[in-house]
Amino acid sequence: MSASSPQTLTPDICVIGGGPGGLSVAAAAAGFGVPTVLIERDQMGGDCLMSGSVPSKALLAAARRAEAIRGAGAFGFDIQNIGVNFAKVHDHVHGVIAAVAPADSAERFTGLGVRVIRDHAKFKDRDTVTAGDIEIRARRFVVATGSAPALPPILGLDRAPYLTNESVFELKERPEHLIVIGAGSAGLEMAQAFRRLGSSVTVLEAATPLAHDDPECVAIVLDRLEREGVVIRSGVKVIGIAHVGGTVTATIEAAGAEQTITGSHLLVAAGRKPRLDGLDLDAAGIRYDRTGIIVNGKLKTSNRRVYAIGDCAAGHSALAHAANYHAGLVIGNVLFRYPVRVNNSAIPWATFTEPELAHTGLTEAQARTCRIKIRVTRWPYNDNERAHTEHDTRGHIKVITTSKGKIVGTTIVGAQAGELIAMWTLAIAQGMNIRAVTGLVLPSPTLSELGKRAAIDFFTPRLTSPWVRRIIGWMRIFG
Ligand SMILES: Cc1cc2nc3c(=O)[nH]c(=O)nc-3n(C[C@H](O)[C@H](O)[C@H](O)COP(=O)(O)OP(=O)(O)OC[C@H]3O[C@@H](n4cnc5c(N)ncnc54)[C@H](O)[C@@H]3O)c2cc1C
Repeated sequence: MSASSPQTLTPDICVIGGGPGGLSVAAAAAGFGVPTVLIERDQMGGDCLMSGSVPSKALLAAARRAEAIRGAGAFGFDIQNIGVNFAKVHDHVHGVIAAVAPADSAERFTGLGVRVIRDHAKFKDRDTVTAGDIEIRARRFVVATGSAPALPPILGLDRAPYLTNESVFELKERPEHLIVIGAGSAGLEMAQAFRRLGSSVTVLEAATPLAHDDPECVAIVLDRLEREGVVIRSGVKVIGIAHVGGTVTATIEAAGAEQTITGSHLLVAAGRKPRLDGLDLDAAGIRYDRTGIIVNGKLKTSNRRVYAIGDCAAGHSALAHAANYHAGLVIGNVLFRYPVRVNNSAIPWATFTEPELAHTGLTEAQARTCRIKIRVTRWPYNDNERAHTEHDTRGHIKVITTSKGKIVGTTIVGAQAGELIAMWTLAIAQGMNIRAVTGLVLPSPTLSELGKRAAIDFFTPRLTSPWVRRIIGWMRIFG
């Protein structure tokens, strides 16, 4: 990297944002020996590490332990009461962040050869970004500034002490009654976690919970949450928030009537908005709208020097692994001139409630709108030996194929769904036929056998009456 003056850097690549997207670009570019600058104004690791995937999964892990202890009677243990020390749960969550943080740290990236600048970045013109008193004139820029919580226009919300993903993991005391606005993945994950840790929880959703997922599988998740005591109100509009003393009251409109719900804390988990504040995109001729920075199939913006990836790119999934995937494409295009094109057809997503809900490819509803003949093949967890050993038999795998067996989508609801979806993502990305899965030899007993059983069922639907299934199980015909 040459420095034409102490304040001007001229790297090949300048990355704005140190979340999963930006860090992946910077690490890969530095790995290939390319002069790289990375600018991060806040915490290295981005939302993913500080206020997204990592702390939310850590909180869920704690909550899962609490629930496992409550359910230990089924395994022969005599457990009386469990006490949750919420301050220690907080310490556990922050311990996990601290354990992961070194991999994303400025020190590590400096060691890899990246010039890390800890400041706010903004465009000065089409070719220049400034960060404090440093100017960066790079051959290519990558904007990876992520997203922030979207706040719905609710009367009184701005005057109430609401929580978002940026503050909820700082709680050291358990909320008595948490009201959650939004029943997407993040809202429901937090609802189950807090309920299992002893809070009362009410979720308010204007439309349908987990609206992008398969309704049949969503119903299984919601049923579990409700049986655990989470109150889920769908189709209700929150029209006002009032904060009195130590309480927060949500006024909702449900079936034409107004009602109020009072809790101790309010968590807003009502979607995301691209984080573009103070970037001065206009100065660089970069087009954007309220959904994010406009990019083409190569993730290039309207300024040919500049790419946008991850949550801040319009029209793409707000997921850590999508940001990583984008990073790989940009590296391929910038360094090797590969003719890349984003392919969103096999980007999986998962909701890490218990049961987990994971999906890849087309949903059944999407597949039915394509002009193809489809077949839907299911296999239940209660027909899997491993699920029985764990006393966790609720859920199923649902594979969507063409009539000839080409796999086009899979949804799994049940234990380990987020892990089990990996194989199906590969199958879809490789255009595989479900026949290939029937020939797989898998360790037994494992939950991955669910997928193989579904695949066999595709070819032998007549054999799946309960008694024939039993005989097949005994004879181990299919391994
Ligand atoms: C509660 C919650 C749970 C989640 N769980 C999951 C999950 O289980 N799995 C999953 O895949 N995804 C999950 N996500 C989504 C995931 O966190 C994001 O998709 C991911 O962090 C996006 O990565 P990114 O690199 O695009 O941006 P970010 O991680 O948001 O990083 C962007 C960085 O850019 C910096 N920045 C912004 N503007 C500037 C500027 N002008 N100058 C300098 N720096 C700037 C920010 O400070 C930030 O550090 C979750 C999100 C939330 C909120």
